[in-house]
This record gives sequence, C-alpha cells and structure tokens, in this order.
Amino acid sequence: MNGAVIPHTPIAVDFWQIRKCPQVRLFFLSHMHSDHTVGLSSTWRNTIYCSPETGLLLSHKLKVDKKWIHPLEVGESHMLSLDEFDLVTMTVTLIDANHCPGSVMFLFEGYFGTILYTGDFRYTPKMLEQPPLNNRKQIDVLYLDNTNCHPEQTIPSREEAARQIKALIQRYPDHNVVIGLYYLGKESLLMELALNLATWIIVSPQKLEVLELLGLLDVFTTKEEGGWIRVVDQSQINYSAMVEWNKTHPTIAIIPTGREVKVLHEKIYVVPYSDHSSFQELTEFVAGLKPCSIIPVVKNHACEAYFRRYLSSKEIVCDEIQVPSSVAQFMKLGEIWKHPLPCRKVRIPNSRPRGVVFELSVEKNLPKR
Ligand SMILES: [Zn+2]
Repeated sequence: MNGAVIPHTPIAVDFWQIRKCPQVRLFFLSHMHSDHTVGLSSTWRNTIYCSPETGLLLSHKLKVDKKWIHPLEVGESHMLSLDEFDLVTMTVTLIDANHCPGSVMFLFEGYFGTILYTGDFRYTPKMLEQPPLNNRKQIDVLYLDNTNCHPEQTIPSREEAARQIKALIQRYPDHNVVIGLYYLGKESLLMELALNLATWIIVSPQKLEVLELLGLLDVFTTKEEGGWIRVVDQSQINYSAMVEWNKTHPTIAIIPTGREVKVLHEKIYVVPYSDHSSFQELTEFVAGLKPCSIIPVVKNHACEAYFRRYLSSKEIVCDEIQVPSSVAQFMKLGEIWKHPLPCRKVRIPNSRPRGVVFELSVEKNLPKR
C-alpha cells in the first residue's frame, strides 16, 4: 500500500484506512492503480479529490458514489478550506504525473509549507519547465516515487523501450502477440503499436469499457479476428497458456514492465518499459527541485541517502509547524466531516509572479452537520 497521511495536517493522499487517521478531513487520490486504493470501495463516504479521469475510473471500477468524487482540473490550482469556517485555506495544484491515464502529482501550499506528493510518476524535463514547478519555489517536503530508485538498475526511456518492443515483434512476423498488462497503464504503447504495425488491438469487453471511458484512440476491439496483438492480464501469461496459444497459432508474449518477472517460457519476453522514473531521472528531478527533505512513497525502500547532496540547506523541523487552532479543532471533530469543503480555482500566470484569481464563487456557509 502506497499512501500517506501528511503530519500536522488534515490531509491524506492515497490513504484510505479511516480508523488509522481519524483526524484526516481531505482525501486525495493520485491515480487508480490498486496499490494506491487499498481500503477504498463502494462503501466510501467522504469527499475524494482527484483528476477528472481518475474520478471517472473511481466510479467505474470501485463503484464509489459520484457524490463523493470531486474532480479537480489538472494544471490548475485550487484553494481548499482546511477548517469548517473557511478561515484557513491551502492551495493544491494538480500536475500531470506522466504515469497512467489520470495520474497526477499534488503540490500543496499552506500553513505547513510547500509539499510535493509525486504519487507514481515518470519524470520528464517538462515538469520543471512548466508551472507550477518552473518558479523553483522551495519545496519543504518531497514525497518521491522511489519504485526504481536503484542506482545499478538501467531503465530506458519509454520511447526506447517501445522501439525494443516493435523490433521484437518484427523478429516474429508470422506470430500473434500477447501483451500482459494491468487494469490501467501503457495505453499509449498500445496505441503506438496499433498505428505503427497497422493492427487492431484485441482487448476484453471490460478493458474496452475502460478505454472508451478514457476517450482514447479508436484502435481497440473485442473481436478475436480483429487483429493479431492481444492484451491480457499480466497474470494470464504463464507456461501453460503459452503452450495452449502456440497450439493454435505461433505466439509470443511480451510483458512491458520495469519490475523483475520470472520467465518460464522461451517465447515470453520482458521489456523494461516503465511508467516510473529511472534512477537517473529521479536524480535530475531532485537536483532541479532541491527540496528540504524527501520521504519515499514506497515505504520499505529507503532512497533519501542517494539524494542528500541535492537537498536544500534550509532546515525544517516538522515539530515546529504550528497548526492553526481552527484546523486543529476541525481535525478533532468526532466523526469524519462529510461535506465538501469550499473550493475555488486559482489561476497561475505563466511567467509572472504567482497571483490569485477567484473564478468560482462558493457557498461560505457550510451545511450543518
Ligand atoms: Zn501506479
């Protein structure tokens, strides 16, 4: 499970175990991968802030009631209340995480300082060249996706990995191709293969529903005879399946992943196509941001030591963060606050210093409990 409750705040990201965080009032979801939604189900009864695409998937896959889903536009800043009287606010900006459809990073700015929560992300230099990270604002705490934080591991760019996959497919001209994926992710690879190799991509009816929900290119079909590249769940690629598939037609299987996978058949290929940043990319990201501190998103794998030299010398001491009294009071309320808090959209000028424009009026008076 990869989520966190932000200390000294009523904020949690990808953390859904309510009994363990009774003080949390604002729940954020970075993306719809299952290791970030542990504990989230149709019985959820609190407002969730996420990107519009994640909101659609959340309702579709986990059947969370739409009334609890509060999509926030990506690339925009939004002002949210941190107490029940709208006395203390914070700004949250959603940044495309370049990981899977709907995935975002959250930049929180408030009485607690500036916190960047990357969720899962694949670094691209654009992230540091565009607002809001191009203004080199001091990041006090960086929650960093450390999935690939291994200096000895080489992860090629996704473009290079896609080239490897195409070359592999072309080595087997008469073969069908089975690609092992999860519920969400690597859709852009599939679209690239469809266009480059001029074939439809065969998917299950369930997968097609998701792809249509996301409004992706029309290159997917459920018809078995529709094409020669087929997507299955990664768990379906094993020795006996390979034997079966090869009885009817010569078939290779490709697993595009940065993770280690045990291969038990000569025609199963693992290609390091990763939606997580490589170690080199993480280094570039941290060196560019120069945060004060780093907290790894994947808990059992420390990574801070690798980046110590890039950290800002500005010290922060979390215990010194003063929680405003109205926020502290809000965090102590006996039951979880169920009403959406006031939210306003904030415009960030491209190159000028940051300004605030209120674009939406909101009800100041919250509903009574
Ligand atoms: Zn993920």
